[in-house]
Amino acid sequence: MERLTTFAELRAYASAAARPLGLVPTMGAVHAGHLSLVERSARECATTAATLFVNPAQFDDAGDFARYPRDTEGDLASLVEAGADAVFTPPEREVYPEGFATWVRMGGPALPLEGAARPGHFDGVATIVAKLLIGASPDAAYFGQKDGQQVAVVRRLVADLGLPVRVIAAPTVREADGLALSSRNRLLNAEQRRGATALHRALQAGAAALGEGAEAAEAACRAALAQEPQVLVVDYAALVDAETMEAWDGRGAAMLAAAVRVGGVRLIDNLLLNAD
Ligand code: AMP
Repeated sequence: MERLTTFAELRAYASAAARPLGLVPTMGAVHAGHLSLVERSARECATTAATLFVNPAQFDDAGDFARYPRDTEGDLASLVEAGADAVFTPPEREVYPEGFATWVRMGGPALPLEGAARPGHFDGVATIVAKLLIGASPDAAYFGQKDGQQVAVVRRLVADLGLPVRVIAAPTVREADGLALSSRNRLLNAEQRRGATALHRALQAGAAALGEGAEAAEAACRAALAQEPQVLVVDYAALVDAETMEAWDGRGAAMLAAAVRVGGVRLIDNLLLNAD
């Protein structure tokens, strides 16, 4: 495994790598969801590079950034075992050099849902993803459907900047009780962890009601979330177009997305509906 820490090293590695090259961006605290992306890239690409960088620019809350779990050595071992040939672990100053002043400002799919709840979040995501895609020039980049709005934002970014990369969205990996794997799950206590399972149940209830229309689906999802008032505070539950993130008009792929707060931890999840 090659450990790369500068963009110059990343570029040199990518230009010598056997193609196709797959890139898997992560913020670490690696779990089976991240590893499923690495494994898929390793199956589909001759070379797989993962990146490990807790991006301060995409945190709207300093406490969330400070509490974000970090375990670089453990992460490196897991990523390599899953099939990563190289891991890019840049220091913050490498990504945001002294005097840094260039940001990707996202509109469109970045504005509602997470974008409304976390101002600046997707500008931070788009800026780091653009830097990684330009730096590594991969043939394919792998993202999790768990962050479905992020997938839509990255697809928009790649189309708008004309970056020559295929964006691949991989299915959400879940615990046996349905909770989507997330690095933040380890911050939940036992009661919160139990209550958090309502998130996936609520999305399923919403999906089951889709036949009665978009409003019924959202209402069923909200009603199921409201059954855990002691543990969950609902931020949003919305049925949106999977590409634009605007309210679903009954055509094309839809995404039923919800965000809740459990104690100080914010959890998001979604289901893709009506997709081919
Ligand atoms: P993060 O480290 O949270 O930025 O996540 C890195 C990548 O892993 C993103 O593309 C996420 O969407 C993806 N990911 C996170 N959790 C899951 C999951 N439970 N299943 C599949 N992919 C995931």
